Amino acid sequence: STPRRPLMAGNWKMNLNHLEANLLVQKLAASLTEKQLTEVETVVLPPYTDLRTVQTAVDGDKLLIGYGAQDLSPHASGAYTGDISGPMLAKLGCTYVVVGHSERRAYHHEDDALVNAKVQAALTHGLTPILCVGEGLDVREQGTHVAHCSEQLDGALKGLSAEQVTSVVVAYEPVWAIGTGKTATPEDAQEVCAAVRQRLADRFGAETADQVRILYGGSVKSSNVAAIMAQPDVDGALVGGASLDAEEFAKICRFP
Ligand code: PEP
Repeated sequence: STPRRPLMAGNWKMNLNHLEANLLVQKLAASLTEKQLTEVETVVLPPYTDLRTVQTAVDGDKLLIGYGAQDLSPHASGAYTGDISGPMLAKLGCTYVVVGHSERRAYHHEDDALVNAKVQAALTHGLTPILCVGEGLDVREQGTHVAHCSEQLDGALKGLSAEQVTSVVVAYEPVWAIGTGKTATPEDAQEVCAAVRQRLADRFGAETADQVRILYGGSVKSSNVAAIMAQPDVDGALVGGASLDAEEFAKICRFP
C-alpha cells in the first residue's frame, strides 16, 4: 500500500485581514523546520482577500507552506456577482480548495449536487478539493452517521473517474464537533474515516481508496492531535480555531 503523506490544513474561516495573514504565515513558517514541513504537508486556507498576500509571502521567501481557498464557484467565469472561480484561485498559486464545508451547507444551502459541481470545477482547474462530509448531532444520536457520510460522499463524487478521485482529499467533520470544543474520540474519527475509505474502495477500487487522504476535523488541538493521528485511516486534520494561532498550529503540525 502507498504511504499517505500527512496533511494539516488550517481553515481560517472569516478571520484575519491581509496584514494579519502575512504575520501568521511568516510565524508559522518560522516555527517549523524544513524537515517537519517536508514530512507533514502544511496548508493554510485564508479568506479570498488574503490570498494574494499569502502568495507573495510564500513565493518571496520560498516557504514550504501550501495554501488554498475556502470555497469556489462551480463556474469558470461569467455573470456571477460576488463569486470567485477556480481559474482565479489557480492563478494565485492555490493548490487546495475546501468544498462542501458544513458552514456553507448550512448558511448557503449548498446541496450535494452543488458540492459535486464544485468538486468537478476544482479538478478541472487543477485544484485539489478538500471535500467535507459529516453528520449533525441528530444523525449521530440516531446512529446513522456512517450512512449519512457515505451518501454525502457518493453525491459529491458523482461522475468522477477513479483517477480523479485519487486527487481528492476527504475531510470527515462531524458538525457537532466543529467549533464546540467537543472533539470526536479517536475511535469515532476512525470509524467514519475507515467507512469512507471502504466506500471509496467499493465505488472506485481498492487502489484508489488506498491513495486518498482522509482528514478528521472538529476541535483539533495540539493536545488531542496525536491520538487522532494514530488512527490508521486518519491521514491529517482540518483545523479551524486552533489554526489562527501560529504556535498552536505549528504544534499540531509537529504531532509525530
Ligand atoms: C472546521 O471549520 O473545519 C473546523 C474543524 O473547525 P474547529 O477546528 O474550530 O472545530
